[in-house]
Amino acid sequence: MSTQNQAIDTPQPQILPSFVKGAWWRPEDPQRVADVCNATTGELVARVSTDGIDTAGAVEYARTVGQASLGQLRIHDRALILKQLAQYLGEHKEELYEISYATGATAKDHLIDIDGGIGTLFTFSSKGRRELPNANVIVDGAVEQLSRDGSFLGEHIYTRLPGVAVQINAFNFPVWGMLEKFAPAFIAGVPTIVKPATPTGYVTEACVRLMLDSGLLPEGSLQLISGSARDLLDHLDARDHVAFTGSAATARSLRAHSHVQEKGVRFTAETDSLNAAIMAPDVTEDSPEFEAFVKSVVLEITAKAGQKCTAVRRVIVPQEIKPAVVAALKERVAQRGVVGDPRDPATTVGPLASEDQASEVLRSVRTLIDAGATVELGGPEELSSVPQDGAFFPVTLLSFDDARTPAVHEVEAFGPVTSVLGYSGDVADAVEIAALGGGSLVATVCTHSPELAAQFASGIGAHHGRVLFLDRDDAKTSTGHGSPVPHLVHGGPGRAGGGEELGGVRAVKHYMQRTAVQGSPDLLTGITGQWHWGATANTVTREDVENGTGEHPFRKSLETLRIGDQFVSDLRTVKLDDILEFADKTGDTFYAHTDEEAATANPFFPRRVAHGYLLVSWAAGLFVEPAPGPVLANYGLENLRFITPVTYDDAIRVTLTAKKITPRVTDEYGEVAWDARLTNQKDEIVATYDVLTLVAKQWPVREA
Ligand code: NAP
Repeated sequence: MSTQNQAIDTPQPQILPSFVKGAWWRPEDPQRVADVCNATTGELVARVSTDGIDTAGAVEYARTVGQASLGQLRIHDRALILKQLAQYLGEHKEELYEISYATGATAKDHLIDIDGGIGTLFTFSSKGRRELPNANVIVDGAVEQLSRDGSFLGEHIYTRLPGVAVQINAFNFPVWGMLEKFAPAFIAGVPTIVKPATPTGYVTEACVRLMLDSGLLPEGSLQLISGSARDLLDHLDARDHVAFTGSAATARSLRAHSHVQEKGVRFTAETDSLNAAIMAPDVTEDSPEFEAFVKSVVLEITAKAGQKCTAVRRVIVPQEIKPAVVAALKERVAQRGVVGDPRDPATTVGPLASEDQASEVLRSVRTLIDAGATVELGGPEELSSVPQDGAFFPVTLLSFDDARTPAVHEVEAFGPVTSVLGYSGDVADAVEIAALGGGSLVATVCTHSPELAAQFASGIGAHHGRVLFLDRDDAKTSTGHGSPVPHLVHGGPGRAGGGEELGGVRAVKHYMQRTAVQGSPDLLTGITGQWHWGATANTVTREDVENGTGEHPFRKSLETLRIGDQFVSDLRTVKLDDILEFADKTGDTFYAHTDEEAATANPFFPRRVAHGYLLVSWAAGLFVEPAPGPVLANYGLENLRFITPVTYDDAIRVTLTAKKITPRVTDEYGEVAWDARLTNQKDEIVATYDVLTLVAKQWPVREA
């Protein structure tokens, strides 16, 4: 953080408040105060102190009040709140832009941090409602039958952690950094304590204030510690989770904390990373890939003034094309690298977040030069070319003769800085050089060759969390090397920390425990809320329906339909003519259905057999309830398996059971998955699958 002295009589901003135990809090008589300055002007923008903060109380409040209020909601309810929150923040984002300029961020940088953060909430909201059940237990994977008769089963479930999600964030993304972790924890139902980095924590504070003002957040679901919180981990135990983002050095010290080592605190880290952009040997100077590569590298080192954990630090190119790459990068920086006031629309590179950061970057660049780098552009000699008042640093391009120089694979100059390295032109050589980074968040591989892409993917995959393959076809549509997208994993192995903060519903599961549960079908049905084969069912037959002694489950709206509601059809016999007619009508005259001799010679069939799709179509006819009713649509089948062949003169019946009911929180209907099982006249299983339907919440549908 910056600690420039202020004139004695300058009015000082109040201490930046924290939000703990349901109230805004400031220290009464702070002794240790950090001053935070505007990155462009050096003026004081915030004073930060946590002297006397009740960290233990905040943790306890989350574990009690936060857990209770979030636990009253289900996954879809919480996901919907995220959408409303995103809409609210979207309406107020200009306020955040205004505050964020002081961190050195340009208008384009706001799109990454503020709009990016809001977009992440939207994505999690929609993925949470589409891909997760409207429940508080998530089933993971298939049921395993553990006894011959099916009375003992096993499967996996996720349930939320009972403690608090502590999120310690880096200074470079004060909004996105918070929201990308808050969103999955919130969907999981785990309360958050967010601890932003001191130099830009005032932007996070403004965002948290908006989130609370929205009135949408359940009590205790979000607390904020503005400033240092060195004792935070002392209060955590096996119930809790720490998601850290920052430098590898801080991650190491936190990982070594006794409560992580001995008390079972779950700890994940996203740390620094020496990400590579690799030009494959098929790229020539006049190919579209060359231009796309150069544009991508320059964008990566200029956006956010290069203060991105994903920024390209190592540009790895075939030795023979290296001079052309260096020349093109210099030319592009000359055109696009305008260092200046972030409020000026012409500026593409604002100042670094603080003068301390600028000094740190200068130190790192000097280390790289001492290790043998040639300065191609920028560097210490050009410091006088950038504005002198704030924390500015020139766009700096280095090159190394020896691509294996250790420093270039170890020193992260966290600013607008990158280094160009040459490789022999062999994929194996490029892979080896990339791997010297010790594990990275992301790499770009620029190639138009699927064969080379495959070689790189298997070569560098294990060293990276994400690999972007860039070519002429995706150059314009790509979301870019440096942009983690909430749909895909963000994180990387080794030095990058090993975390996976994002990645769609995978991220939600970081805040949950996976447990294997074993038991009878009835017990597992009770635990998961999903009907299991062999569990108690409420069975009706066609005869019951026709006699009026039973109601077809398709006549039940979500008000009355229950898992386990089951319909068992009559048997229907398949005739040879049915098979031949189906072959004729559909054009599917595959020999197994039409040629007795060839079918009999096939190892799987006794003689000519019915088409699987004929059986599935017949099953629909066997279970259908044709009159208009609460079942609004059939939107697909899942997990279809044909098990026992059906030959002519066999008969089939279908058993259809309501397996999973997911009411939508925003619609007048929900999804119902039906377990469908076809059996033959000997009760052998012919086929199994799930029928997916949309079912009205009420029937007849009530007028709004
Ligand atoms: P940092 O110095 O490691 O600090 C990160 C966070 O840790 C800050 O909130 C800091 O709080 C806190 N902290 C430090 N020591 C602590 C302790 N003993 N107990 C509890 N909290 C502690 O990193 P930074 O300078 O803010 O961020 C820059 C680094 O983050 C770069 O290396 C960058 O590559 C990395 N980064 C990685 C990712 C990723 O996703 N992989 C994303 C962004 C940034 P104070 O500020 O109050 O000290």
